[in-house]
Amino acid sequence: MAAITEEQVRELAGFRGKLAPVTSCYLDVDGARQIRHQDVVRELDRLLRVARARQNGDHSVANDLRRIEEHVKGGLDRSRTRGLAMFSCSAHDFWRVIELPVPVRSQVVVNHTPSVGQLEQVIDQYERFGVLLVDRQRARMFVFELGELVESTAVFDQLPRGDDDDHSYTKDQARDHTAARARQHLRHAADMAFTVFQDQGFEHLILGASDDLATEIEAVLHTYVRERLVARSHIPLHASDDEIRLAALEVEAAVGRAKEAEVVERLRQAVRAGGRGVAGVDATLAAVVERRVDTLVVSCGYTQVGWRCGTCRWIGRIGRTCPVCETEMDQVDDVIEQAIEDALGQSCKVEMCVGNADLDVLGRIGALVRY
Ligand SMILES: [Zn+2]
Repeated sequence: MAAITEEQVRELAGFRGKLAPVTSCYLDVDGARQIRHQDVVRELDRLLRVARARQNGDHSVANDLRRIEEHVKGGLDRSRTRGLAMFSCSAHDFWRVIELPVPVRSQVVVNHTPSVGQLEQVIDQYERFGVLLVDRQRARMFVFELGELVESTAVFDQLPRGDDDDHSYTKDQARDHTAARARQHLRHAADMAFTVFQDQGFEHLILGASDDLATEIEAVLHTYVRERLVARSHIPLHASDDEIRLAALEVEAAVGRAKEAEVVERLRQAVRAGGRGVAGVDATLAAVVERRVDTLVVSCGYTQVGWRCGTCRWIGRIGRTCPVCETEMDQVDDVIEQAIEDALGQSCKVEMCVGNADLDVLGRIGALVRY
């Protein structure tokens, strides 16, 4: 499965349904929660019922919903797919399916553009991770992307046997020799990590080793590799690929939370200082409209009904007349989703936060602004 890229999300966000709205459907197909295909179908039916009740007789949207239904009911390979994202605009014959190895929140959104907020969140949260596991004579290196293994390699340097029969060797010489071999092994492990980094690239590194060995290996890692080290772990060297993958996912999630907390703290200080930060839905939407946003910070799951001006693209909570150009605006199910798409279209960074209490206090949305 090819991982979704930032470019693909931007391309999707750039599509405009000129003849008819775009239907975006996210479906949670995670085998851990939806055990049988029938469970997935029930989840889909629930979403479609709500969407059909709201479609207002639009033929293109009705066709979108039918196409989504056919796609899902036609059968899915869920062995590697835990989340499904479908985008349809039948009037333009526009149809995209993205299979994700991570779960999504089930949701149908009908709007002028594809609703890419959740895809952005997936990309944001799951960067490439390297995992380096080392003991005294073995080293294993893995690279994961979006929870999937993309690279696996290993080195083995056998240590000299302790009960050597060669009596010309003094104990001191033997000890020195063993220490030299051990250092050489750690250098091999570090070289392997750097080669994998050059071939595959990764944003973060997790190191699994005993505490004393971890300190030694860190000292010999290439600078580019060492500066990506985010966590030490006690993943055993002989763990299965799947155990390593799950352990890496846990560390990834923790790193994601820490990064979110850091952005929210910057936002909180910027708002308090009356500087380059705005908080709350109205001030933040205004900053998006004025194209002042550097980083948009949104609490995951925050939705808000609002309005969009088809003429000047203004968005806000209060309708129906546009405060800028006085055109009558369109009501939208979720103006937060619109803000995320606009921000992406302006090449802003978007940080989606999960359960961050400090952001909730700020009004669940805010932005670091350029001026
Ligand atoms: Zn307007």
